[in-house]
Amino acid sequence: MDKITPERRSWNMGRIHSANTKPELTVRSLLHRMGYRFRLHRKDLPGKPDIVLPKYKTVVFVHGCFWHRHADCQYAYTPKSRVDFWETKFQKNIERDEKTRTALESIGWKVLVIWECELSNIESVADKLVKNICNRRNKTNGQRLYGFQASRKNSSS
Ligand SMILES: [Zn+2]
Repeated sequence: MDKITPERRSWNMGRIHSANTKPELTVRSLLHRMGYRFRLHRKDLPGKPDIVLPKYKTVVFVHGCFWHRHADCQYAYTPKSRVDFWETKFQKNIERDEKTRTALESIGWKVLVIWECELSNIESVADKLVKNICNRRNKTNGQRLYGFQASRKNSSS
């Protein structure tokens, strides 16, 4: 059996498939307060992005760290039992996210991911949103979007 408790598991399970999770609502209300206009769960776009900002041709995904395997994040732990099961599952999630991102980018959308754990510092999330949503004219910044996790790690130490 898993060490993970049934309550914990159902909490986790509930997160991946359901829309309108609390982290997502947090990001939505933040964007709203920042004055951005957005649409939700557009089914006509690959991956049915959580939040779509048509004006900026940007989509925002709010990802749970556990399911979407936030790199080097304490919440992206692997349960100790049924390791194969979990790793297969995680791998599928990672591949799906990757496919979604590629599909969106190929039709000209910018993809921004907000990780659940980042929401503990709402100001830095706001900062990230502003930086990434506003600069879409600057093509070179597209790369930064996906590199920010790495660059965020303190390279000074
Ligand atoms: Zn995380």
